[in-house]
Amino acid sequence: MAATPMTSTPTTPGPAASSPAAATAADASVQDTLPDGTVDAVVIGGGAAGLNGALMLARSRREVVVIDSGTPRNAPAEGVHGLLGLEGMPPAELLARGRAEVRHYGGRVVAGEVESAAPAGPSAEGDPRFTVTLADGRTVLARRLLVATGLRDVLPDVPGLASHWGHGVVHCPYCHGWEVRDEPIGILATGPASVHHALLFRQLTDDLVYFTRDTELDSETRERFAARGILVVDGPVGQVVTAEDGGIEGVRLADGRLVARRVLAVATSLQARTSGLADLGLPMEDLPGGIGRRFVTGTAGTTDIPGVWVAGNATDPMAQVGASAAAGALAGAHINADLAAADTDAALAAARRAPAPA
Ligand SMILES: Cc1cc2nc3c(=O)[nH]c(=O)nc-3n(C[C@H](O)[C@H](O)[C@H](O)COP(=O)(O)OP(=O)(O)OC[C@H]3O[C@@H](n4cnc5c(N)ncnc54)[C@H](O)[C@@H]3O)c2cc1C
Repeated sequence: MAATPMTSTPTTPGPAASSPAAATAADASVQDTLPDGTVDAVVIGGGAAGLNGALMLARSRREVVVIDSGTPRNAPAEGVHGLLGLEGMPPAELLARGRAEVRHYGGRVVAGEVESAAPAGPSAEGDPRFTVTLADGRTVLARRLLVATGLRDVLPDVPGLASHWGHGVVHCPYCHGWEVRDEPIGILATGPASVHHALLFRQLTDDLVYFTRDTELDSETRERFAARGILVVDGPVGQVVTAEDGGIEGVRLADGRLVARRVLAVATSLQARTSGLADLGLPMEDLPGGIGRRFVTGTAGTTDIPGVWVAGNATDPMAQVGASAAAGALAGAHINADLAAADTDAALAAARRAPAPA
């Protein structure tokens, strides 16, 4: 099924917008509708992974629909860092550009939450079908699914911590480490991964405090920390204290002492977003070291469920924006190849059924 252009209202953008601002402005005025009939692919999630998958499919003349609930993981961040050529671009602008690019090739991007995605009866030739239902009751039938729902960062339950998430509270030295360099930084330990975290943040500041929060810290690691000038504070943490300027003032320990810090780094629990996907029966697994849970995938995002691919943070929680986009692109290409084979099988079966010319 070749995608046809002009699927958006009021208009499909012409050439992809020439600047992030233009892309955002064009994006705000576009609302795509769900098509009737069966589409080649539905992409669940319109972050970097989903949009790049859709871009590959749309450029391959596949009828593709992205359904996105609009809550990408890096929404609180001011800029996307570590991304060659687009360094520092606001996350919302990057996605607006991506949506414009998908639409430019005839793909649709529909705002909405997938409430259920489930296998439907296959076609007469045995080609898989999936029914995707949105929270508002709309449905669409798809030949293939790309799950790109991302992950949820679960913070430890420390009063005052969550309100600073993505600003004074950071998780990734590559995403915002440079921006907090030389600040007084605290590591709020959540488990063994925090030790590794501490060594990475030590690269960015000389003023680093490691709050054990009663997690295990063996004597060898304490010696290694001491050698790098990392101060260890043992015992439970009471709360994160907000400064008058709205930033972080410090960490109040359970015994009442305040340890002044401007930035806190936390290794979050990384939980693939599974909402609406249960009926697909996709295998999941715990991540090593108990750091979270992900969808299990093989080459190019393939899964044990024929017709369903997963890409981005939902299966690769360490992937940054570039890696997530690349994984989505690879999955999109793989889906197109799978559809091409299925289309050829169907054409061959039809040709063999056709009466031989007299
Ligand atoms: C605070 C913060 C800052 C970061 N900064 C950087 C950075 O500077 N550089 C960098 O490279 N990486 C950064 N990252 C990592 C980056 O966020 C991820 O690499 C990237 O978002 C992964 O892309 P994704 O497409 O897999 O998931 P997401 O971007 O999270 O997109 C998933 C999309 O799926 C949608 N969705 C989920 N479930 C459903 C459903 N049931 N129905 C419909 N839609 C659904 C969501 O609304 C969302 O829009 C940062 C992360 C955080 C938390």
